Amino acid sequence: MPTHYNIARIIINLSLDKTFDYNIPLHLASNIDIGSMVKIPFGNGNRNGFVIDLPEKSDYPTLKDLEGIIGDKPMISTPLIELGKWMADYYCCTREQAITALLPAAVRGRLIKEKKRKIIHLKNEDDIPIILQTLSKKAPKQADALKFLMQNGQCSLTDVVKKCKISYTAIASMEAKSYISIEDVIEERDPFANDHIIPTSPLKLNTEQSNALSEVIRSINSDEKDVILLFGVTGSGKTEIYLQSIAECLKQNLESIVLVPEIALTPQTTERFRSRFGDQVSVLHSHLSPGERFDEWNKINNGRVKIVVGARSALFAPFQKLGLIIVDEEHETSYKQDNVPRYQARDVAVMRGKIENVTVILGTATPSVESYHNTQQGKYNLVTLTQRIEEQQLPKMHIVDLAVENAENERHQIFSRRLITEVNDALENGEQIMLFLNRRGYATQLQCMKCGYVGECSECTMNYTYHKSRSQMICHLCGAVIKAPKKCPECNDPGIRFSGLGTEKIEASVRGIFPYARTLRMDSDTMTKKESYRHALTSFRAGEIDILIGTQMIAKGLHFPNVTVVGIIFADQCLNLTDFRAGERTFQLLVQVAGRSGRGDLPGRVIVQTYTPYHPILMSAIDQDYVVFFEKEIKSRIQLQLPPKAHLLLLSFKGDNEEKVRSHADYCFELLTSKIPKDINCSPVLPSPILKKRGLYTYQILMCTEKIMTLSKYIKLFFTSIKCPQKITVTIDVDPYSLL
Ligand code: ADP
Ligand code: ZN
Repeated sequence: MPTHYNIARIIINLSLDKTFDYNIPLHLASNIDIGSMVKIPFGNGNRNGFVIDLPEKSDYPTLKDLEGIIGDKPMISTPLIELGKWMADYYCCTREQAITALLPAAVRGRLIKEKKRKIIHLKNEDDIPIILQTLSKKAPKQADALKFLMQNGQCSLTDVVKKCKISYTAIASMEAKSYISIEDVIEERDPFANDHIIPTSPLKLNTEQSNALSEVIRSINSDEKDVILLFGVTGSGKTEIYLQSIAECLKQNLESIVLVPEIALTPQTTERFRSRFGDQVSVLHSHLSPGERFDEWNKINNGRVKIVVGARSALFAPFQKLGLIIVDEEHETSYKQDNVPRYQARDVAVMRGKIENVTVILGTATPSVESYHNTQQGKYNLVTLTQRIEEQQLPKMHIVDLAVENAENERHQIFSRRLITEVNDALENGEQIMLFLNRRGYATQLQCMKCGYVGECSECTMNYTYHKSRSQMICHLCGAVIKAPKKCPECNDPGIRFSGLGTEKIEASVRGIFPYARTLRMDSDTMTKKESYRHALTSFRAGEIDILIGTQMIAKGLHFPNVTVVGIIFADQCLNLTDFRAGERTFQLLVQVAGRSGRGDLPGRVIVQTYTPYHPILMSAIDQDYVVFFEKEIKSRIQLQLPPKAHLLLLSFKGDNEEKVRSHADYCFELLTSKIPKDINCSPVLPSPILKKRGLYTYQILMCTEKIMTLSKYIKLFFTSIKCPQKITVTIDVDPYSLL
């Protein structure tokens, strides 16, 4: 290895997927490394780029000199650069796009600087009384300032100026006379400035937990690290295992990353880490200001924190001595990013673990079919926790057949008699209730009973949802809002009907049936402000609310000891999704929602209302028997060549002219399939299930293969050689989670 490098291979943010070689001038040679951010002459001006390689030779005979290095050390570690390259290959994006994802925008753009504060110290404290004698007469302001410093110790420059009403010149003169010294200190924006946390110490683990922890520690200490699937029922104490695993890393001076789905980034989750490890923890979430994000990144990069808790992008925390990556709620689909690079954070976490030889824990009460399959294949280690802490019982699930209910009831009711009884009992005993429906709004369809008119968004293939409290019709795809009509807009008939259930309607019915209960609705309509989510959960926790009504927002990761009844208003709703993961999601959702109840001393009940009481997915969810669910599910996935048996790749062609979109898709299809490698299956061109969204039409090609890297390579190459017509965009989604 040469000690001085001559050539830097650089990517710049142009999405060309090309690298450029530059000559490294001698005076920069000792400072440059892979991951350095550099300034280069490019075209007529300058650009910033990242060094991704330091090759010995270049294919180009003459190279320009690079202009300078930005920052005093590399911004991206070599393993992270390697991870970025892998992401570009796997997810079919350019290397720039992948590497861009590794750094927060605030760091990448260099728009934010560290905030500095000037701090004044007294220099020779013993001499001050003598100095004061002369100063008091000659320069009383300076004397006051010295006294102020004697009383308060070191102070910020602005404080001294303000409190002692002294000028900056006078302070400069005090510095010149060596009475004081002034120092620049980096001031961090502290997102927790107003928080109070109560420290906790490690709990004594039960047998299952100790076994799980030993398995983690064994992996941390061995040469070959493992991916451990920690499959523990809700309330089995997985978080305590995370905490003690992290403590072990700290003991060995190793760093840890904890990924949590954005939705679980509630104070509850993050507080548990901060309560145990204090300011060794950095919490990254979407509500941080760019300045706060910048500071947190610097803290991590400079080794001042050892633990990061955050959503997706926390995975790229610039740690140098990583010892552990934890992915909590590994089954959560929000780990998949839905814009470029379309990566799945859990899978990238496993890859980072592999590159940096680090133990990875995937924790969940309802494993994704992919991860559980990997344990069956011997790729991941399976560790299970079957017992809830203190032997609390898992809640009992009861199915209510809505067809029978409707037949026996006069009118069609939202709440079955069983659910009403359970809620009343709980209210009487001062217990809390959660009601779950994964759809917001009041009614999901408006129809004219005379002419058949249905209110549909003009820009999307989507019915308007009626929001009664605002008297509005809202398209949940594009957000378009129109005034709710009183008569049919087509035929003027007053006989319009609203049908289909939303959370707003549930709330109204709850108020009607349980007029004395205190209720709160949590969905993205009511939780619009930054603080409202936190606020709502705090008041529910404090017992100020009896019935919490909500969408998936209330389904996950929350812990409320006083909740005894959970009502799932309409379980069929998720089963109807046109998606091969619908069954898996329904199973997860039911078990997770159920896990919200009976977490304290009181036993929990879950009432599941459905029209398909004998659906196999519901049956396995009722028994909370994951293995039964998995065995069935994996069989059909294998039969249908679906993940995890094979990988999917979804090509979407979008544009405002439907004919042009389709014809470009057809053209690509012909070319693609003429040369396609043998073991790749390819669907014909199909309209997306949501053909039109925001005025744009989508046509798709779905591909499937067991060798995804081969397919990714083929597709990436293919689309760099095809010219895309104007106003048409093609997106490539590898391992897609939404087929819309
Ligand atoms: P999970 O993440 O598996 O749903 P949690 O980690 O939230 O479960 O644990 C549920 C509750 O049990 C928490 O209040 C936690 O503090 C408590 N707990 C966990 N482990 C122990 C233990 N060994 N002894 C006593 N309480 C525990
Ligand atoms: Zn719309």
